[in-house]
Amino acid sequence: MAPIDLSNVPLADNHCHGIYQTQAPADLTAWRRLFTESSDPGMQSTHVATTLFYLRLIREMATFFECEPTEEAVLAARQQHDDQSLVSKFLQAANFEVLFVDKGYPPPELLLSDTMVSDLANCRVAPILRVELLMQRLIAENGTLSAVVEALRTALNDVRGQGYVALKSIVAYRTGLDIRTWDIDDIEEAFAMARREVQEWGSIRLAHKPLLDTLLHVTFAEAARQQLPVQFHTGYGDTDADMLLANPLHLRAVLERREYRAMPVVLLHESYPYTQQGAYLATVYENVYFDLSYGIPYLGYHEMLEFTRAALSVAPFSKLLYSSDAVGVPEIHWISALNGRNILGQVLGECVTHGDLRSTEAEKAGVAVLHDNAMRLYKS
Ligand SMILES: [Zn+2]
Repeated sequence: MAPIDLSNVPLADNHCHGIYQTQAPADLTAWRRLFTESSDPGMQSTHVATTLFYLRLIREMATFFECEPTEEAVLAARQQHDDQSLVSKFLQAANFEVLFVDKGYPPPELLLSDTMVSDLANCRVAPILRVELLMQRLIAENGTLSAVVEALRTALNDVRGQGYVALKSIVAYRTGLDIRTWDIDDIEEAFAMARREVQEWGSIRLAHKPLLDTLLHVTFAEAARQQLPVQFHTGYGDTDADMLLANPLHLRAVLERREYRAMPVVLLHESYPYTQQGAYLATVYENVYFDLSYGIPYLGYHEMLEFTRAALSVAPFSKLLYSSDAVGVPEIHWISALNGRNILGQVLGECVTHGDLRSTEAEKAGVAVLHDNAMRLYKS
């Protein structure tokens, strides 16, 4: 079962985050914490170091630095580099053509600028606008619901003109993917509550379901008009997310709306553990695309193989998009690139062995998932 060699395909990482200016972690826990979504102290300090994802990362980093395959040796070798050369070394080794960057997290003051990342990685950076942050700002700035709706329409009037290639929503983290339409009384009540929070705290965390759902419908109408892709966090995340409501099948009400069909929908993080359900949606709705993230959710090799097999077996490969979902340190962008190319190559090799694909088709599928599909979808 010979794997398909994808090692030279330049990557379009369709969902990742910014990179910290300061790379040296304060201590061992600060480093390990980068590789878990848990906020529990014992998870961050101890248990994360026994995940397969972490242990593989340490071993691969040891090969990269040509040092002993231990955590101590790898971190010591990492410390030898200044921040920018470390970032540059890993990102260039991963060979990106474009990084599609969610600008909503982490806070920009901690991060390298897009221009800097672009220079260090020798690739393009294409920004993505996180809509909940925009909504929160507009609610803080406007005293009436109709003023917020109008301000949101104006802000989203020409998203590409502002330099963004897509929108991203984290509604799965806030109130769930079952986005509904609400009576005006419910919306006004939620808005009044949000405004009271603004007056008390100066800002809000938008988790008022009737209000957030309503503003998302405004967003979808604008996205559909501009044929602009919207990425949705689905599945796996920190405990902020109620995982039951992060199942992408909850998007049915949105996906069924004819007027939104011009809006491409990208289901992030292979909807893990709802991979088959998410991939299924990409087979029945023309506008649904499915993201295969090899960084977060921090899985071992076997489970990465499984989700890749499931996605390729269920959905057309024209709907699948590679990503890392990497945050903060360049090692996650890099290890995801390594794992993603290898695993996809292995699974496509299996498809040839089992007679699903001819080897030329398998190569084409590999390039499509790692590069071509994202370039076409985001018009980059
Ligand atoms: Zn993300």
